[in-house]
Amino acid sequence: MIEVPESCQGCGACCRFDWMQLEPGDVVPARFMGEHEGQAVMVGLMPEWRCPALDASRNCAIYDQRPACCSRFVRGGEGCLRALRLAQSFPMESA
Ligand code: SF4
Ligand code: SF4
Repeated sequence: MIEVPESCQGCGACCRFDWMQLEPGDVVPARFMGEHEGQAVMVGLMPEWRCPALDASRNCAIYDQRPACCSRFVRGGEGCLRALRLAQSFPMESA
């Protein structure tokens, strides 16, 4: 049974990926942007695939500017549960 945190603050389990495609209308600071096959993306940082905008406290450093796909993400939803399960077997070592 996966326990869903009461808040996303300090979790960040779903903020891990190899790359995440940005959508038209997303306005992400340039320092967090990359390119994959000609598309604007955010690239996860090795070795933990952390989003470059996830700060040391595991909060989103660009919360008000986060991409649309992050805004749509639902705490307790299927993707959240999948991320929390992955974090159990591959926890983030740093804060
Ligand atoms: S949506 Fe789920 S996995 Fe993502 S930060 Fe919130 S509680 Fe953690
Ligand atoms: S932009 Fe913010 S909410 Fe989206 S994956 Fe990165 S840290 Fe998480």
